[in-house]
Amino acid sequence: MKGPEERPGSVPGAADHFTGTVWLDELAAPPAPSRLRVFSVHFAPGARTAWHRHPNGQVLHVTEGVGLVRREGRPVEEIRAGDTVWIEPGERHWHGAAPRHFMTHLAVVEAAADGTTVEWAEHVDDTGYPTA
Ligand code: MN
Repeated sequence: MKGPEERPGSVPGAADHFTGTVWLDELAAPPAPSRLRVFSVHFAPGARTAWHRHPNGQVLHVTEGVGLVRREGRPVEEIRAGDTVWIEPGERHWHGAAPRHFMTHLAVVEAAADGTTVEWAEHVDDTGYPTA
């Protein structure tokens, strides 16, 4: 078992890929042949990812708070602690906290053969994000 002191710790989400305050904790990134990557992602109210895709899809499991997920061409969905969401391979989407609530989710992906886990696109500006 790996305790917190043996993991990389909490890393701020890069401004190129996130809006607002986001912290990422890598929980598991086992060596090859595994391509599993598990993160706990902490979003302050209003914080969210940019639009992006995952080559092999993504499982999101909400552990705390209230959040939002949007898949392109579909309405925004509210997600709450205990909810699990499957994002299809290549599906354009974003996820984050609700406007007035913190949200934490586990994010589980399988990297592509070249190690890619995410392909980033543009930010979700305030016109594309629901207001409180
Ligand atoms: Mn995602």
